[in-house]
Amino acid sequence: MKSDVEIAREAAKQPIAQIAAKLGLRPDEILPYGHDKAKIPHQSVAALAGRPEGRLILVTAINPTPAGEGKTTTTVGLGDALNRIGKRATICIREASLGPNFGMKGGAAGGGLAQIVPMDDMNLHFTGDFHAITSAHNLLSAMIDNHIHWGNALDIDTRRITWRRVIDMNDRALRDMVIGLGGAGNGFARQSGFDITVASEVMAILCLSRDLTDLEQRLGRIVIGYSRAGDPVTARDLGADGAMTVLLKEALQPNLVQTLEHNPALVHGGPFANIAHGCNSAIATQTALRLSDYVVTEAGFGADLGAEKFLDIKCRIAGLTPSAVVLVATVRALKMNGGVARADLGAENVEALTRGCVNLGRHIENLRLYGLPVVVAVNHFSGDSEAEVAAVTDYCAGFGVKAVVARHWAEGGAGAEELAQEVVAMVEGAEGDFQMLYPDEMPLIDKVETICTRIYRAAGVEMSPAIRAQLEGWQRDGYGHLPVCIAKTQYSFSTDPDLRGAPEGHVIPVREVRLSAGAGFVVVICGQIMTMPGLPRRPAAETIRLNDLGQIEGLF
Ligand code: ADP
Ligand code: MG
Repeated sequence: MKSDVEIAREAAKQPIAQIAAKLGLRPDEILPYGHDKAKIPHQSVAALAGRPEGRLILVTAINPTPAGEGKTTTTVGLGDALNRIGKRATICIREASLGPNFGMKGGAAGGGLAQIVPMDDMNLHFTGDFHAITSAHNLLSAMIDNHIHWGNALDIDTRRITWRRVIDMNDRALRDMVIGLGGAGNGFARQSGFDITVASEVMAILCLSRDLTDLEQRLGRIVIGYSRAGDPVTARDLGADGAMTVLLKEALQPNLVQTLEHNPALVHGGPFANIAHGCNSAIATQTALRLSDYVVTEAGFGADLGAEKFLDIKCRIAGLTPSAVVLVATVRALKMNGGVARADLGAENVEALTRGCVNLGRHIENLRLYGLPVVVAVNHFSGDSEAEVAAVTDYCAGFGVKAVVARHWAEGGAGAEELAQEVVAMVEGAEGDFQMLYPDEMPLIDKVETICTRIYRAAGVEMSPAIRAQLEGWQRDGYGHLPVCIAKTQYSFSTDPDLRGAPEGHVIPVREVRLSAGAGFVVVICGQIMTMPGLPRRPAAETIRLNDLGQIEGLF
């Protein structure tokens, strides 16, 4: 099998206008960015209002392990397969962050014969959206320090500014710094730092905004810190919302590209899956739903974090109603959940695999709380044995859930046709019964407890009096209706990344809470969360270069 990048390079792409035509969009209804990328401009998005919507299928997974699960690959494979069986299906996934490419190898455009192209563009500058987000974020940062420099009319407490700066690079040296050194001409010295762009609230806002008006209002609501009297200071108070919207005007338009099988894919937005909600833009999903029978989308990390936030945050804010969930599992990852070391994953081990299936079972039970039909996709790796695959299928049957083996990585859409048929069978003719885990009216503290006890199966939540008081304060200040966005390790239902399987009875300690008033959620941080990654000892950047043909080497 060729490498992902070799396959992507050899792809015979169709002109982007031809892909748009499959969505029923004329050449003048798209905004081409070269030959193989386009944006769907605001006018075209707006013209779709009121159109009937297709069915929304969420692809999620068991808790991630280093063995890999393949959510994106399965999202692409299923989208291609649905098209093969005669459905008009569009794929919606996130854009990739540029910085991490230079740390460890890895792309975000799928894999094998289930990929989105152009994959090198997609993983680097793409259509410039992340650069625009970086600029809009840093404009607000600059305006804060400038406001203080010119007299600080808002009486901003320089010790309580929570708005930092961002850059799309892994650079640990920027995490914590003192800015404004060098004398009276250079502003006021204060402690601050950088986060990576995907952790910016502007990213989350862009991904949850309905249109430019909604975007501007959300940007205006960003709380940048507090005045000395203790009142929140917003981006609107600083007069930054208008200019930030101008910088984001193009970035809010969804990007259209194609799969290796020439099916449409909207790749748009990419919020962090820990301190933000981790899925592509609402506007892309909404647009795709109005242009297709089926939309297949993905949410970051395992179902406990990714699906929960997709269903309770994105669907709530964007008014989306999903029809079904595809839960991706691999034999390798289930064996790891059953205690097998990474080096031994190649050997058949039905016993460990069966032990590890409790993780899968827990996610199935959780997804049922949302009233959605679930199918398990066993993303097939070449080393999987018949007996192992049968053990997964049997386990799922015990839950009354069908498990389908999908071979899209090796075979493209043809390898996932059975999965596509199963998805269609689950949703066509069936009345959806989607419900969110908690209502808007539930108090913030109860929302946290609901997620921790019902999804993570914790015995309880540990919150200091200060954190409790902060949540109660936001409740009083009118933020109580917001959903909560929990940031915790993606590797376990608990906050201990080494606790695999299906732990219960643990306690979830809340370390910190943050208000993302613009995005529209309260972030609840449980455990150590990194918002500015570093590079490893031998960064991939050392081997990335252009070859004699001008092609990128070493990136994937
Ligand atoms: P996720 O979205 O869950 O993070 P991806 O779909 O991006 O996972 O896949 C992660 C990596 O695993 C990719 O490099 C992909 O090529 C590889 N991969 C996925 N499925 C398979 C498979 N069935 N066989 C071999 N490699 C796979
Ligand atoms: Mg992915």
